Amino acid sequence: MDKKCICQETQRHFLNKAFDRLKLKGAQRELLLSSFRETRITVPVTLRHNGENTLHTFQGYRVQHNHARGPFKGGLRFHPDVNMGEIRALAQLMTWKTALVDIPFGGAKGGVSVDPQQLNETELEELSRRFCQKMAPIIGVHEDIPAPDIGTNPQVMAWMLDEYSKTHGYRTAIVTGKPVELGGSAGRLEATGYGVAHLAHKVAETISLTPEHSRVVIQGFGNVGSHTAIALASKGYKIIALSDVNGGVVNETGILIDHALRHIAENGTLTGLSGCSSVSNADLLELPCEILVPAALEATITCDNAGAIQAKLIVEAANMPVTHGADEQLQQRGVVIVPDLLANVGGVLASYYEWVQNLQQFPWDRETVLARLESRLSRTYDAVSVLANEQQIDLRCAAYELAIRRVEHAVRLRGF
Ligand code: GLU
Repeated sequence: MDKKCICQETQRHFLNKAFDRLKLKGAQRELLLSSFRETRITVPVTLRHNGENTLHTFQGYRVQHNHARGPFKGGLRFHPDVNMGEIRALAQLMTWKTALVDIPFGGAKGGVSVDPQQLNETELEELSRRFCQKMAPIIGVHEDIPAPDIGTNPQVMAWMLDEYSKTHGYRTAIVTGKPVELGGSAGRLEATGYGVAHLAHKVAETISLTPEHSRVVIQGFGNVGSHTAIALASKGYKIIALSDVNGGVVNETGILIDHALRHIAENGTLTGLSGCSSVSNADLLELPCEILVPAALEATITCDNAGAIQAKLIVEAANMPVTHGADEQLQQRGVVIVPDLLANVGGVLASYYEWVQNLQQFPWDRETVLARLESRLSRTYDAVSVLANEQQIDLRCAAYELAIRRVEHAVRLRGF
């Protein structure tokens, strides 16, 4: 089955479980599942190839899932696998995330089916600006606020902010995850990984895993994976394996994260990191460890490899890394899973803080951002864990239940 189907099926399965528990009827379910609007565009870019200029067209998407609780909110992904099915599932997930952490936003997601590694800086800028031009009628500071995701970064947000501001006046709050110089929030870049580490540590304590006796494996060393590694290492955890798209590196005695960051800055890849042996991305997931952090793409843990996973705790830094079949197998074996909508919610939470600072034209310092982030994440986790214990359900089911309840209530209050 291809990835987009697995994503949608996995999402549907988790939601149906929560819908059943909440005793929601057919039409209510349909309303909560359907997108408010799905937009598909063609993004033309002139690419320089073998010294010649050629026109290419890329497919772009924005799915606005639900805005009952506030403007649509969610990232933009530049990746070759992007398609409407995947973006639709991810847009829904944003609705549950913003509701779970109780910020006044709905959920959306967008992206372009493109490999950004194949574009030079000028081409990437053209792609970002054109995408923004075509999406301008449906986004807005109080309508829909994009942010970075896989393959996009603060520079892409800066180009979009500039493009949008050409026709709307200076609108810093139109995107979040911007460079700090343009109104980005201190702490936003590291917020997702910082939050993943904060929650991993909180949940680890509940199953008697201490930092000094816990080996951590992290799949994916992009913005989220690398900041998770930095934050977990600073809490005293031993990071024994890391990976990027080219493969993984292992050192049983622990990898120095500063060393890995320097290596990647110089070589563009983790491959060849001194003191480490290499491992494939698939084998990395099956290494003996206490904590496993999938921080790459969707559906990396499936029924095919779930039986070989040795970790006691899985923290979903990526969106939808564990399929529903794998989730069932792992839960049966007593593996604790911190679900994506809770584990990586620090990213959109910091985006909310950025938006608030932009609207008030009043920046906060990094300590304030991270202290607020930590305390709200702790409160959110406590609420999820109380419900899970009361009802004897897993963390994912409890998180979905809390989130769906809030969205369903808002939909009812608003009367649509
Ligand atoms: N792309 C991130 C996510 O999947 C952040 C979204 C945002 O900040 O709006 O949660």
